[in-house]
Amino acid sequence: MEHRGDAGRDSLEPDCGTGELRDRVAEFVRRRVMPCEPVLDAGGPAAAAALRRLREGAKEAGLWALPLPVELGGQGLPLARYARIAEAEGASDHGPAALGSAPLLDVTMLWNHGGDRVRELYPKRLTAGELRACYAMTEPGTPGTDPFLTATRAEEQADGGWRVSGRKWFTSGAAEADVVTVLARTDGEDGDRSGLSLLLVPTGSPGFRVVRELPVFGAAGQWEIEFDRVAVPADHLIGGRGRALAVAGERLQLGRTLRCLRWLGQAQRAFDLMCERAGCRTGSRGPLADHQLVQQHVFEALLALRTTRPLVHEAADRIAAGRDAHVEVGLAKVAAARMLQQVADAAIQVHGAAGLGPDTPLPALFRTGRAARILDGPDELHVTSVARRVLRAYGAQGK
Ligand SMILES: Cc1cc2nc3c(=O)[nH]c(=O)nc-3n(C[C@H](O)[C@H](O)[C@H](O)COP(=O)(O)OP(=O)(O)OC[C@H]3O[C@@H](n4cnc5c(N)ncnc54)[C@H](O)[C@@H]3O)c2cc1C
Repeated sequence: MEHRGDAGRDSLEPDCGTGELRDRVAEFVRRRVMPCEPVLDAGGPAAAAALRRLREGAKEAGLWALPLPVELGGQGLPLARYARIAEAEGASDHGPAALGSAPLLDVTMLWNHGGDRVRELYPKRLTAGELRACYAMTEPGTPGTDPFLTATRAEEQADGGWRVSGRKWFTSGAAEADVVTVLARTDGEDGDRSGLSLLLVPTGSPGFRVVRELPVFGAAGQWEIEFDRVAVPADHLIGGRGRALAVAGERLQLGRTLRCLRWLGQAQRAFDLMCERAGCRTGSRGPLADHQLVQQHVFEALLALRTTRPLVHEAADRIAAGRDAHVEVGLAKVAAARMLQQVADAAIQVHGAAGLGPDTPLPALFRTGRAARILDGPDELHVTSVARRVLRAYGAQGK
Protein backbone atom coordinates (compact mmCIF):
# COMPACT_ATOMS: atom_id res chain seq x y z
CA MET A 1 0.00 0.00 0.00
CA GLU A 2 1.77 3.12 -1.28
CA HIS A 3 0.78 5.69 1.32
CA ARG A 4 0.99 3.76 4.55
CA GLY A 5 2.84 5.44 7.38
CA ASP A 6 5.90 3.24 6.89
CA ALA A 7 6.41 4.20 3.25
CA GLY A 8 9.35 6.47 4.14
CA ARG A 9 11.36 3.48 5.33
CA ASP A 10 12.42 2.27 1.90
CA SER A 11 14.76 5.21 1.35
CA LEU A 12 16.63 4.07 4.45
CA GLU A 13 17.34 0.58 3.12
CA PRO A 14 21.13 0.17 3.19
CA ASP A 15 21.66 -3.09 1.30
CA CYS A 16 19.87 -6.01 -0.23
CA GLY A 17 18.93 -8.92 2.02
CA THR A 18 18.01 -6.70 4.97
CA GLY A 19 14.49 -6.13 3.66
CA GLU A 20 13.82 -9.86 3.31
CA LEU A 21 15.14 -10.53 6.83
CA ARG A 22 13.09 -7.65 8.20
CA ASP A 23 9.96 -9.11 6.62
CA ARG A 24 10.64 -12.50 8.21
CA VAL A 25 11.14 -10.89 11.61
CA ALA A 26 7.98 -8.81 11.18
CA GLU A 27 6.02 -11.94 10.28
CA PHE A 28 7.34 -13.85 13.31
CA VAL A 29 6.50 -10.98 15.65
CA ARG A 30 3.03 -10.54 14.14
CA ARG A 31 2.04 -14.20 13.99
CA ARG A 32 3.83 -15.64 17.01
CA VAL A 33 4.72 -12.92 19.55
CA MET A 34 1.75 -10.56 19.39
CA PRO A 35 -0.89 -13.20 20.17
CA CYS A 36 1.04 -14.05 23.37
CA GLU A 37 1.25 -10.44 24.60
CA PRO A 38 -1.54 -10.63 27.23
CA VAL A 39 0.08 -13.73 28.81
CA LEU A 40 3.57 -12.21 28.64
CA ASP A 41 2.38 -8.90 30.13
CA ALA A 42 0.83 -10.71 33.09
CA GLY A 43 4.15 -12.32 34.09
CA GLY A 44 4.51 -15.45 36.24
CA PRO A 45 4.99 -19.11 35.20
CA ALA A 46 2.60 -18.91 32.22
CA ALA A 47 4.60 -16.01 30.78
CA ALA A 48 7.88 -17.86 31.32
CA ALA A 49 6.53 -20.93 29.50
CA ALA A 50 5.20 -18.82 26.61
CA LEU A 51 8.54 -17.04 26.28
CA ARG A 52 10.39 -20.37 26.23
CA ARG A 53 8.21 -21.58 23.36
CA LEU A 54 8.72 -18.35 21.42
CA ARG A 55 12.49 -18.59 21.84
CA GLU A 56 12.54 -22.13 20.53
CA GLY A 57 10.44 -20.99 17.57
CA ALA A 58 12.83 -18.09 16.86
CA LYS A 59 15.81 -20.45 16.93
CA GLU A 60 14.06 -22.88 14.55
CA ALA A 61 13.21 -20.00 12.21
CA GLY A 62 16.86 -18.86 12.12
CA LEU A 63 15.96 -15.51 13.67
CA TRP A 64 17.70 -15.91 17.02
CA ALA A 65 20.18 -13.31 18.37
CA LEU A 66 20.54 -11.46 15.08
CA PRO A 67 22.74 -8.56 16.32
CA LEU A 68 24.90 -10.58 18.74
CA PRO A 69 28.50 -11.47 17.84
CA VAL A 70 29.06 -14.66 15.82
CA GLU A 71 31.88 -15.83 18.15
CA LEU A 72 29.35 -15.84 21.00
CA GLY A 73 26.65 -17.70 19.08
CA GLY A 74 24.76 -14.77 17.56
CA GLN A 75 24.34 -13.92 13.89
CA GLY A 76 26.66 -10.91 13.87
CA LEU A 77 24.36 -8.43 12.12
CA PRO A 78 26.14 -5.05 12.25
CA LEU A 79 24.21 -2.23 13.93
CA ALA A 80 23.74 -0.42 10.60
CA ARG A 81 21.76 -3.42 9.28
CA TYR A 82 20.14 -4.45 12.55
CA ALA A 83 18.74 -0.91 12.96
CA ARG A 84 16.51 -1.62 9.94
CA ILE A 85 15.20 -4.77 11.58
CA ALA A 86 14.88 -3.55 15.18
CA GLU A 87 11.72 -1.60 14.32
CA ALA A 88 9.98 -4.76 13.15
CA GLU A 89 11.31 -6.80 16.06
CA GLY A 90 10.27 -4.14 18.57
CA ALA A 91 6.71 -3.76 17.25
CA SER A 92 5.93 -5.91 20.29
CA ASP A 93 7.59 -4.98 23.59
CA HIS A 94 8.33 -8.71 23.93
CA GLY A 95 9.96 -9.08 20.48
CA PRO A 96 13.59 -8.56 21.59
CA ALA A 97 13.29 -11.12 24.42
CA ALA A 98 11.54 -13.63 22.16
CA LEU A 99 14.11 -13.27 19.37
CA GLY A 100 17.17 -13.22 21.62
CA SER A 101 18.41 -9.70 20.90
CA ALA A 102 17.50 -8.39 24.38
CA PRO A 103 20.89 -9.38 25.92
CA LEU A 104 22.80 -7.27 23.36
CA LEU A 105 23.55 -4.48 25.85
CA ASP A 106 24.69 -6.79 28.65
CA VAL A 107 26.72 -9.00 26.34
CA THR A 108 28.40 -6.00 24.69
CA MET A 109 29.21 -4.46 28.06
CA LEU A 110 30.56 -7.68 29.59
CA TRP A 111 32.52 -8.61 26.47
CA ASN A 112 34.09 -5.15 26.11
CA HIS A 113 34.63 -4.34 29.78
CA GLY A 114 34.66 -7.63 31.70
CA GLY A 115 37.86 -9.46 32.71
CA ASP A 116 38.82 -12.93 31.44
CA ARG A 117 36.66 -14.78 33.97
CA VAL A 118 33.53 -12.72 33.26
CA ARG A 119 34.05 -13.09 29.51
CA GLU A 120 34.42 -16.83 29.93
CA LEU A 121 31.41 -17.33 32.22
CA TYR A 122 28.61 -15.14 30.88
CA PRO A 123 28.45 -13.68 27.34
CA LYS A 124 28.05 -17.00 25.48
CA ARG A 125 25.42 -18.31 27.86
CA LEU A 126 23.54 -15.00 27.79
CA THR A 127 23.55 -15.09 23.99
CA ALA A 128 22.25 -18.66 23.99
CA GLY A 129 19.40 -17.66 26.31
CA GLU A 130 20.66 -20.03 29.03
CA LEU A 131 21.26 -17.12 31.43
CA ARG A 132 19.53 -13.78 31.89
CA ALA A 133 20.98 -10.47 33.02
CA CYS A 134 19.57 -7.21 34.35
CA TYR A 135 20.99 -3.79 35.09
CA ALA A 136 20.40 -1.88 38.33
CA MET A 137 21.19 1.82 38.62
CA THR A 138 17.98 3.43 39.89
CA GLU A 139 17.33 3.53 43.65
CA PRO A 140 14.19 4.30 45.65
CA GLY A 141 15.92 6.75 47.97
CA THR A 142 17.99 8.83 45.53
CA PRO A 143 17.16 10.50 42.19
CA GLY A 144 18.02 8.26 39.24
CA THR A 145 18.83 11.42 37.29
CA ASP A 146 21.72 12.11 39.70
CA PRO A 147 23.94 9.00 39.83
CA PHE A 148 26.54 10.85 41.93
CA LEU A 149 24.16 10.44 44.87
CA THR A 150 24.05 6.62 44.48
CA ALA A 151 23.63 5.20 47.99
CA THR A 152 24.52 1.58 47.22
CA ARG A 153 28.00 0.83 48.55
CA ALA A 154 30.64 -1.77 47.71
CA GLU A 155 33.31 -2.26 50.37
CA GLU A 156 36.61 -3.79 49.37
CA GLN A 157 37.59 -6.96 51.26
CA ALA A 158 41.03 -8.20 52.25
CA ASP A 159 41.01 -10.77 49.41
CA GLY A 160 40.28 -8.05 46.82
CA GLY A 161 36.59 -8.98 46.57
CA TRP A 162 33.66 -6.73 47.46
CA ARG A 163 30.63 -6.62 49.76
CA VAL A 164 27.67 -4.82 48.15
CA SER A 165 24.85 -3.27 50.21
CA GLY A 166 21.93 -1.21 49.01
CA ARG A 167 18.54 -1.18 47.36
CA LYS A 168 17.59 -0.71 43.70
CA TRP A 169 14.21 -0.50 42.05
CA PHE A 170 12.54 -0.60 38.63
CA THR A 171 15.21 -3.14 37.70
CA SER A 172 13.71 -4.72 34.58
CA GLY A 173 13.67 -8.51 34.65
CA ALA A 174 15.42 -8.80 38.05
CA ALA A 175 13.30 -11.66 39.38
CA GLU A 176 14.26 -13.94 36.46
CA ALA A 177 17.87 -12.74 36.16
CA ASP A 178 20.92 -14.87 36.93
CA VAL A 179 23.24 -11.87 37.16
CA VAL A 180 22.69 -8.21 37.88
CA THR A 181 25.09 -5.38 37.05
CA VAL A 182 24.95 -2.94 39.97
CA LEU A 183 26.05 0.66 40.16
CA ALA A 184 27.71 1.18 43.55
CA ARG A 185 30.00 3.65 45.25
CA THR A 186 33.41 2.05 45.84
CA ASP A 187 35.26 5.25 46.81
CA GLY A 188 34.53 8.77 48.02
CA GLU A 189 31.43 10.36 49.52
CA ASP A 190 27.85 10.98 48.41
CA GLY A 191 27.83 13.50 45.60
CA ASP A 192 31.47 12.96 44.54
CA ARG A 193 31.76 12.87 40.76
CA SER A 194 34.17 9.95 40.87
CA GLY A 195 34.30 6.73 42.90
CA LEU A 196 31.42 4.86 41.22
CA SER A 197 31.91 1.35 39.88
CA LEU A 198 29.89 -1.41 38.22
CA LEU A 199 29.87 -4.88 39.79
CA LEU A 200 28.38 -8.03 38.33
CA VAL A 201 26.46 -9.87 41.05
CA PRO A 202 25.18 -13.45 40.61
CA THR A 203 21.61 -13.35 41.95
CA GLY A 204 22.09 -16.70 43.71
CA SER A 205 24.56 -15.02 46.12
CA PRO A 206 23.57 -14.96 49.81
CA GLY A 207 22.22 -11.52 50.75
CA PHE A 208 20.56 -10.85 47.38
CA ARG A 209 16.79 -10.53 47.69
CA VAL A 210 13.88 -9.66 45.41
CA VAL A 211 11.79 -7.35 47.59
CA ARG A 212 8.66 -6.84 45.48
CA GLU A 213 7.29 -6.44 42.00
CA LEU A 214 6.46 -2.92 40.75
CA PRO A 215 3.75 -3.23 38.08
CA VAL A 216 3.82 -0.32 35.61
CA PHE A 217 0.20 0.52 34.72
CA GLY A 218 -0.52 -3.09 35.67
CA ALA A 219 2.19 -4.70 33.53
CA ALA A 220 4.75 -7.06 35.04
CA GLY A 221 8.52 -6.98 34.67
CA GLN A 222 9.94 -4.35 37.07
CA TRP A 223 11.35 -5.24 40.47
CA GLU A 224 12.72 -3.81 43.67
CA ILE A 225 15.82 -5.66 44.87
CA GLU A 226 18.06 -5.57 47.92
CA PHE A 227 21.75 -6.32 48.51
CA ASP A 228 22.71 -7.10 52.09
CA ARG A 229 26.50 -7.41 52.23
CA VAL A 230 26.49 -9.55 49.09
CA ALA A 231 29.97 -10.98 48.37
CA VAL A 232 31.24 -10.27 44.85
CA PRO A 233 34.55 -11.67 43.56
CA ALA A 234 37.28 -9.17 42.60
CA ASP A 235 37.15 -10.30 38.98
CA HIS A 236 33.45 -9.33 38.72
CA LEU A 237 34.24 -5.61 38.71
CA ILE A 238 33.22 -4.36 35.25
CA GLY A 239 35.30 -1.77 33.44
CA GLY A 240 37.67 -1.12 36.34
CA ARG A 241 37.35 0.69 39.65
CA GLY A 242 35.72 4.11 39.37
CA ARG A 243 34.85 3.70 35.68
CA ALA A 244 31.10 3.13 36.07
CA LEU A 245 29.88 6.26 34.38
CA ALA A 246 32.09 5.85 31.30
CA VAL A 247 30.89 2.25 30.81
CA ALA A 248 27.26 3.10 31.65
CA GLY A 249 27.36 6.05 29.24
CA GLU A 250 28.47 3.80 26.39
CA ARG A 251 25.77 1.27 27.26
CA LEU A 252 23.07 3.91 27.52
CA GLN A 253 23.88 5.46 24.14
CA LEU A 254 23.30 2.15 22.38
CA GLY A 255 20.43 1.18 24.68
CA ARG A 256 18.49 4.39 24.13
CA THR A 257 18.90 4.11 20.38
CA LEU A 258 17.69 0.52 20.30
CA ARG A 259 14.67 1.47 22.37
CA CYS A 260 13.87 4.34 20.01
CA LEU A 261 13.96 1.95 17.05
CA ARG A 262 11.56 -0.36 18.86
CA TRP A 263 9.26 2.52 19.77
CA LEU A 264 9.08 3.41 16.07
CA GLY A 265 7.84 -0.12 15.42
CA GLN A 266 5.23 0.18 18.16
CA ALA A 267 4.06 3.60 16.94
CA GLN A 268 3.73 2.23 13.42
CA ARG A 269 1.52 -0.51 14.83
CA ALA A 270 -0.71 2.01 16.63
CA PHE A 271 -0.87 4.11 13.47
CA ASP A 272 -1.95 1.13 11.35
CA LEU A 273 -4.67 0.25 13.87
CA MET A 274 -5.92 3.84 13.90
CA CYS A 275 -6.18 4.03 10.12
CA GLU A 276 -7.89 0.63 9.87
CA ARG A 277 -10.41 1.65 12.52
CA ALA A 278 -11.06 5.01 10.84
CA GLY A 279 -11.87 3.17 7.63
CA CYS A 280 -14.22 0.54 9.05
CA ARG A 281 -16.09 2.25 11.90
CA THR A 282 -19.12 3.81 10.31
CA GLY A 283 -21.83 6.14 11.66
CA SER A 284 -24.84 7.71 9.98
CA ARG A 285 -22.52 10.26 8.30
CA GLY A 286 -20.18 7.62 6.95
CA PRO A 287 -16.87 6.19 8.16
CA LEU A 288 -14.77 7.95 10.81
CA ALA A 289 -12.17 8.49 8.10
CA ASP A 290 -14.48 11.09 6.51
CA HIS A 291 -14.32 13.38 9.57
CA GLN A 292 -11.72 16.10 9.23
CA LEU A 293 -10.84 15.95 12.92
CA VAL A 294 -10.07 12.24 12.54
CA GLN A 295 -8.00 13.09 9.46
CA GLN A 296 -6.09 15.53 11.64
CA HIS A 297 -5.19 12.72 14.08
CA VAL A 298 -3.91 10.72 11.12
CA PHE A 299 -1.90 13.65 9.76
CA GLU A 300 -0.32 14.58 13.10
CA ALA A 301 0.56 10.96 13.87
CA LEU A 302 2.10 10.43 10.43
CA LEU A 303 4.05 13.67 10.76
CA ALA A 304 5.40 12.58 14.15
CA LEU A 305 6.39 9.16 12.80
CA ARG A 306 8.02 10.45 9.65
CA THR A 307 9.95 13.24 11.37
CA THR A 308 11.16 10.99 14.18
CA ARG A 309 12.33 8.06 12.06
CA PRO A 310 15.27 9.89 10.39
CA LEU A 311 16.40 11.26 13.77
CA VAL A 312 16.53 7.77 15.23
CA HIS A 313 18.37 6.32 12.25
CA GLU A 314 20.83 9.21 12.31
CA ALA A 315 21.65 8.36 15.93
CA ALA A 316 22.02 4.66 15.05
CA ASP A 317 24.22 5.42 12.05
CA ARG A 318 26.53 7.63 14.11
CA ILE A 319 26.90 4.99 16.81
CA ALA A 320 27.51 2.33 14.16
CA ALA A 321 30.23 4.53 12.67
CA GLY A 322 31.84 5.03 16.10
CA ARG A 323 31.15 8.78 16.04
CA ASP A 324 30.03 10.96 18.94
CA ALA A 325 26.23 10.74 19.07
CA HIS A 326 25.27 12.52 22.30
CA VAL A 327 23.15 15.17 20.60
CA GLU A 328 21.62 12.77 18.08
CA VAL A 329 20.71 10.18 20.75
CA GLY A 330 19.23 12.89 23.00
CA LEU A 331 17.12 14.28 20.16
CA ALA A 332 16.03 10.79 19.10
CA LYS A 333 15.14 9.69 22.63
CA VAL A 334 12.90 12.68 23.36
CA ALA A 335 11.32 12.66 19.90
CA ALA A 336 10.64 8.91 19.85
CA ALA A 337 9.16 8.79 23.36
CA ARG A 338 6.85 11.76 22.67
CA MET A 339 5.94 10.33 19.29
CA LEU A 340 4.94 6.91 20.65
CA GLN A 341 2.83 8.49 23.35
CA GLN A 342 1.18 10.84 20.83
CA VAL A 343 0.47 8.20 18.19
CA ALA A 344 -0.85 5.66 20.71
CA ASP A 345 -3.03 8.35 22.29
CA ALA A 346 -4.47 9.36 18.90
CA ALA A 347 -5.17 5.72 18.05
CA ILE A 348 -6.98 5.27 21.36
CA GLN A 349 -9.05 8.40 20.71
CA VAL A 350 -10.14 7.17 17.28
CA HIS A 351 -11.10 3.78 18.76
CA GLY A 352 -13.25 5.35 21.49
CA ALA A 353 -13.82 3.11 24.51
CA ALA A 354 -12.55 0.10 22.56
CA GLY A 355 -9.11 1.73 22.62
CA LEU A 356 -9.05 1.54 26.41
CA GLY A 357 -10.41 -1.98 26.71
CA PRO A 358 -8.72 -5.39 26.48
CA ASP A 359 -9.32 -6.12 22.77
CA THR A 360 -6.50 -4.09 21.23
CA PRO A 361 -2.81 -3.63 22.14
CA LEU A 362 -3.35 0.14 22.40
CA PRO A 363 -3.32 0.37 26.22
CA ALA A 364 0.03 -1.48 26.24
CA LEU A 365 1.43 0.76 23.49
CA PHE A 366 0.31 3.87 25.37
CA ARG A 367 1.84 2.50 28.57
CA THR A 368 5.17 2.00 26.82
CA GLY A 369 4.99 5.52 25.36
CA ARG A 370 4.30 7.05 28.77
CA ALA A 371 7.06 5.11 30.49
CA ALA A 372 9.41 6.00 27.61
CA ARG A 373 9.41 9.62 28.70
CA ILE A 374 10.92 8.59 32.05
CA LEU A 375 13.06 5.49 31.60
CA ASP A 376 16.64 5.75 30.33
CA GLY A 377 16.59 9.31 31.66
CA PRO A 378 13.50 11.54 31.66
CA ASP A 379 12.83 14.02 28.83
CA GLU A 380 14.06 16.97 30.87
CA LEU A 381 17.52 15.45 31.29
CA HIS A 382 17.96 15.01 27.55
CA VAL A 383 16.53 18.42 26.75
CA THR A 384 19.02 20.20 29.01
CA SER A 385 21.94 17.94 28.09
CA VAL A 386 21.44 18.45 24.32
CA ALA A 387 20.85 22.19 24.69
CA ARG A 388 23.98 22.64 26.83
CA ARG A 389 26.16 20.79 24.33
CA VAL A 390 24.81 22.83 21.45
CA LEU A 391 25.18 26.10 23.35
CA ARG A 392 28.76 25.20 24.28
CA ALA A 393 29.53 24.93 20.58
CA TYR A 394 28.39 28.57 20.35
CA GLY A 395 30.75 29.57 23.18
CA ALA A 396 28.21 29.61 26.03
CA GLN A 397 29.46 28.13 29.32
CA GLY A 398 26.14 27.10 30.96
CA LYS A 399 25.70 24.92 34.06
C1 LIG B 1 9.40 0.67 32.78
C2 LIG B 1 10.68 1.13 33.42
C3 LIG B 1 11.81 0.32 33.33
C4 LIG B 1 12.99 0.73 33.97
N1 LIG B 1 14.07 -0.11 33.91
C5 LIG B 1 15.18 0.22 34.63
C6 LIG B 1 16.27 -0.70 34.72
O1 LIG B 1 16.24 -1.80 34.15
N2 LIG B 1 17.35 -0.35 35.45
C7 LIG B 1 17.42 0.85 36.11
O2 LIG B 1 18.43 1.12 36.76
N3 LIG B 1 16.38 1.73 36.06
C8 LIG B 1 15.27 1.44 35.35
N4 LIG B 1 14.21 2.31 35.31
C9 LIG B 1 14.29 3.54 36.07
C10 LIG B 1 14.50 4.78 35.19
O3 LIG B 1 15.72 4.71 34.50
C11 LIG B 1 14.42 6.00 36.13
O4 LIG B 1 13.09 6.07 36.60
C12 LIG B 1 14.81 7.30 35.45
O5 LIG B 1 16.18 7.33 35.14
C13 LIG B 1 14.47 8.51 36.33
O6 LIG B 1 14.96 8.35 37.63
P1 LIG B 1 13.95 8.55 38.87
O7 LIG B 1 12.74 7.73 38.65
O8 LIG B 1 14.72 8.34 40.11
O9 LIG B 1 13.46 10.06 38.75
P2 LIG B 1 14.07 11.36 39.46
O10 LIG B 1 15.55 11.42 39.23
O11 LIG B 1 13.58 11.41 40.85
O12 LIG B 1 13.37 12.50 38.59
C14 LIG B 1 11.96 12.72 38.70
C15 LIG B 1 11.54 13.84 37.78
O13 LIG B 1 12.22 15.04 38.14
C16 LIG B 1 12.42 15.83 36.98
N5 LIG B 1 13.87 16.05 36.80
C17 LIG B 1 14.89 15.26 37.20
N6 LIG B 1 16.07 15.76 36.79
C18 LIG B 1 15.81 16.92 36.16
C19 LIG B 1 16.60 17.92 35.50
N7 LIG B 1 17.93 17.82 35.44
N8 LIG B 1 15.96 18.98 34.94
C20 LIG B 1 14.61 19.09 35.01
N9 LIG B 1 13.81 18.17 35.59
C21 LIG B 1 14.40 17.11 36.16
C22 LIG B 1 11.85 15.04 35.81
O14 LIG B 1 10.53 15.45 35.56
C23 LIG B 1 11.90 13.61 36.31
O15 LIG B 1 10.95 12.75 35.67
C24 LIG B 1 13.03 1.96 34.68
C25 LIG B 1 11.89 2.77 34.73
C26 LIG B 1 10.73 2.37 34.12
C27 LIG B 1 9.52 3.24 34.24
